[in-house]
Amino acid sequence: MEAFFRRVKAGQTPGYPRYKGERWFDTVVWPSDRDGCRWDSTPDAGHIRLYLQGIGHIRVHAHRCIAGRVKTISVKREGDAWYVILACDEVPTNVLPPTGRVTGIDLGVSEFAALADGTLIRNPAWWRQTEERLTKAARRHSLRYPPGCTRSKRKVRSSQNLAKIHRGNARKRLDFHHKLALNLVRENDILVHEALNIAGMVRAPRPKPNPDRPGEFLANRAAAKAALNKRILDAGWAQFLTILTAKAENAGRLTVVVNARNSSRTCYQCGQVDAASRAGITFRCTTCGHEDHADVNAARNLLRAGLVLIQAE
Ligand SMILES: [Zn+2]
Repeated sequence: MEAFFRRVKAGQTPGYPRYKGERWFDTVVWPSDRDGCRWDSTPDAGHIRLYLQGIGHIRVHAHRCIAGRVKTISVKREGDAWYVILACDEVPTNVLPPTGRVTGIDLGVSEFAALADGTLIRNPAWWRQTEERLTKAARRHSLRYPPGCTRSKRKVRSSQNLAKIHRGNARKRLDFHHKLALNLVRENDILVHEALNIAGMVRAPRPKPNPDRPGEFLANRAAAKAALNKRILDAGWAQFLTILTAKAENAGRLTVVVNARNSSRTCYQCGQVDAASRAGITFRCTTCGHEDHADVNAARNLLRAGLVLIQAE
């Protein structure tokens, strides 16, 4: 409501306040511990409890130890499952001893990532499979229960089932990201990766008007881009990099973000920039003949750019 009148005053398109039904709210946040809610954790008591004003004590299954001081508590619903998310302050860092190693990470589409030392990190085998299961279930759901159809017990059950598959996939992906990030942080003192422009990558391509016939449009490769976008989103690069950065910071490691422009078109050996050097998954320099896996070549370029950046500072 407030936002509505603020926009009206500012002369912007207000967008009318909408009815918010019971399914609208999926997260409730309590800004600080002890303000209407309490994290009653006494590990030796055998169970962990959360006190919420107006609700009472709730037993919580804790998946990991709580470090630091609890700052905010949010309760979140995903499908029929409820989660408690704690944001903590003063979390002790766990600085790792230096290894003397550095790496560049190129995030890819065919492989999840390539490292500057030539390692390829493949998407796990279950990746494709879980995605197919989700696609099928989503299609079935939308065919049976088109938008606007009456809400029924069956419909609710069907959408809960869909949400469950979603949740399972997301959790597996998160686990993969955590494990990979942990390994990389353990093994390297400096980690260089590209700056992502997720918003730009997932935006639909602009329609191309046909200059000869007004009102008509030329093919703008929307379908090809949509397929690629889907995989970019699915790979969850942003999620991975967020986890990597957090883990690196906690371990006293340095992450360097560099502009990825030309990193996949530049020859690591001679520095020549030529889009023709990249042929599929192989990089073959049109100038010096240097050959490498395309993503590994890019990872090496990223690493070099990162090291130059550090020296410049
Ligand atoms: Zn070259």
